[in-house]
Amino acid sequence: MDCPYCHKPMEPGWIEARCERLSWTPYGEKKGPFRWSVSQNGVPLGEYYFFQGAKIPADYCPHCGKIILAGVPRRPEKKDTK
Ligand SMILES: [Zn+2]
Repeated sequence: MDCPYCHKPMEPGWIEARCERLSWTPYGEKKGPFRWSVSQNGVPLGEYYFFQGAKIPADYCPHCGKIILAGVPRRPEKKDTK
């Protein structure tokens, strides 16, 4: 795919973690105590396997340094924190 920022070709690859779950965490939240934890309003990235960790497809732009993740699930309805 072409980079949506600089419109040059991106390189396909992966972002991987050994043993840990990958997740996006909003500012002000913590991931949690376990290696498979995701914060309250966080978004898990890729599949997670206890002994293998996590892996998600990602395209990297060597021209501007952006990374685009593929297959990120939509976050469930945001939880009310009141
Ligand atoms: Zn770019």
